[in-house]
Order: sequence, then C-alpha cells, then structure tokens
Amino acid sequence: MAGLHVRKNDLVVIRQGKDRGKTGKVLKVDPATGRAVVERLNFIKHFVKPDRSKNIAGGIMEKEALVPVSRLMLYCEECGQGVRARRKRLEDKSKIRICPKCETVFETKK
Ligand SMILES: [Zn+2]
Repeated sequence: MAGLHVRKNDLVVIRQGKDRGKTGKVLKVDPATGRAVVERLNFIKHFVKPDRSKNIAGGIMEKEALVPVSRLMLYCEECGQGVRARRKRLEDKSKIRICPKCETVFETKK
C-alpha cells in the first residue's frame, strides 16, 4: 500500500462531504484507486431486488461507499482531531507514523 497515508484499521476523520468531521475505522483500502471504505461513513442507499432462491428479501439497503483517501485524515484520539501524521524511522529501519503534536504512535502491531 505504498503512497497511501491511511491503512486498514486506522481511525480516520473525513474532511469533506456530508459526513465532514465524522470519524470511523478504515475497513478496507483499495490502493489501485486510492479509495477506502470507512465504517459507518458515506452510506449510500441502493435497491436490492428480492431473490427467493438466495433468500434475499430485497428492499432499500445501506452500505458504506468508497471514499477517496485524499478526503481522509488520521484521527488522533489524544488530540481529538485529524492530524497529518509524521513518519519516523526506527533503529530497526521500520517506519512508523506518529502524531506531530502528541507523538501518539498510529501503527497497530501485526
Ligand atoms: Zn495527537
């Protein structure tokens, strides 16, 4: 996922659109299109046709739509706001992302 500043499981805040200022967890990132799915954000309604053979009742469903990652910022819980993460290289050469204000580390251990 080189080049993208958000990753799966990051907590992010959306900067534009009708959900501006809301936070959510990144469920999926699509590096090919530079878009992400964020939990509970950018819901779209879509109509599902009933299909008895698949046991689908049909009706209006809501699901999260893809959001361009350029609209997302990492959310720092310590600062209570979206921040532009700073990259820091550790002694073992791995890179981590930290909050430029309070130095909270955003990486989640694998
Ligand atoms: Zn912070």
